Amino acid sequence: MSEASTSSYDVIIAGGGITGLTLACALKHSGLRIAVIDQREPQAVGKDYALRVSAINRASLEVFNSVGAFEHMQQLRVSPFRQMHVWDSSGVGQIHFDSAELGLDTLGYIIENNVIQLALQAVVQQSETIDWLCPVEIESLDISAAQKQVRLTDGSTLTTQLIIGADGANSVVRNAMGVELVRKSYQQQAIVCTVATEYEHQQTAWQCFLPSGPLALLPLADGSCSIVWSLDESRVAQMMALDDTAFAEKLGESFEYRLGSVKTVSARAVFPLGHGHVDHYVQQGLALIGDAAHNIHPLAGQGANLGIMDAACLAQVITDALQARRQWSAFHTLRKYERSRKGDNRLMETTMTGFKYLFGNDNPWLTEIRNIGLNVVDHAGTVKQVFINQALGKH
Ligand SMILES: Cc1cc2nc3c(=O)[nH]c(=O)nc-3n(C[C@H](O)[C@H](O)[C@H](O)COP(=O)(O)OP(=O)(O)OC[C@H]3O[C@@H](n4cnc5c(N)ncnc54)[C@H](O)[C@@H]3O)c2cc1C
Repeated sequence: MSEASTSSYDVIIAGGGITGLTLACALKHSGLRIAVIDQREPQAVGKDYALRVSAINRASLEVFNSVGAFEHMQQLRVSPFRQMHVWDSSGVGQIHFDSAELGLDTLGYIIENNVIQLALQAVVQQSETIDWLCPVEIESLDISAAQKQVRLTDGSTLTTQLIIGADGANSVVRNAMGVELVRKSYQQQAIVCTVATEYEHQQTAWQCFLPSGPLALLPLADGSCSIVWSLDESRVAQMMALDDTAFAEKLGESFEYRLGSVKTVSARAVFPLGHGHVDHYVQQGLALIGDAAHNIHPLAGQGANLGIMDAACLAQVITDALQARRQWSAFHTLRKYERSRKGDNRLMETTMTGFKYLFGNDNPWLTEIRNIGLNVVDHAGTVKQVFINQALGKH
């Protein structure tokens, strides 16, 4: 784009992460002219698995299939998981689900975040009505008039009647709206890396609740596992200071050697953990989706799934309004999206915080309660079904 140019769009999506790109793809047949802005291109697919992966549930897969992106993901790299095994390290409680019991081929897929973005981006780039503006940063927003303005760091200005904030936890759109997201820290961080284990992962997503925090091993198609290990900040510093051999030993021990010893460990990265939720998702001509609106603990692997549902819901609300010739960017239209999504998102945030407290504690009474709880869940059909629905993304 040339310096100081001005372009006009119907919709500007700030942020081309998983949720922003899903929204663009879901609006590709709407007839609206759309710009998606991001400051960086997704990383190319490498020989080694990327450190950031997401457990994508079946509800999200339906969305990816409906916009034609899942076939691109399959061509790049995806890893199915067919079972889930969750247990409490301080007792005997456990839950086990198997896709075969449910008459399904998989429970979902573990997919690298950059693979999801690249596949969605391929769909966006096939569309004549969507412009992918990248790499460029949003410098400032003027949202005071009906025609809103987005100024970019390349000197250009874009105008639009609807701005979507899909720009993540530090959203500039949310700030411009004057909406606050009070992020409460869990005083924990997550270590992520890829490991090879002695025994096969059996296409199972393994999750162990330790008093120090949850530890997940997610199965990858080449036989390795992606780990997410949540720990107090001081323990994270200790674990990051260990060499690979000592780290692998600590990891295997914490995981009770369920997959034998940990044989190799990739580079490690650390992410802060917190949760928060805005009170209002929408204003006239403005809406927030994904992490810009809510952050949750990654222990159930739901953050991206919730954002994908936000995107699908908002696209449906806009499309319905266009078809009914109603004001598709008006507050009362966008409120439908907020009303549909806020309850589910809040419920998930509260549930994850409750789990974090219940399991992140070695008080013997709580140990007893959670063991009874997990075992009841594993044996009682209806309660287990509720958990299965949550894992599959059904409500
Ligand atoms: C350790 C860990 C494990 C997780 N595991 C899972 C899982 O298994 N399953 C799951 O569902 N979720 C998981 N999550 C959560 C998930 O990663 C996030 O919820 C999801 O990535 C949020 O996507 P988003 O598109 O809303 O935001 P983001 O991914 O933050 O994307 C925002 C985009 O906006 C761009 N941007 C921001 N500001 C600007 C600006 N000023 N100008 C231009 N561009 C801008 C950024 O470059 C970025 O691309 C995990 C999270 C963590 C930390």
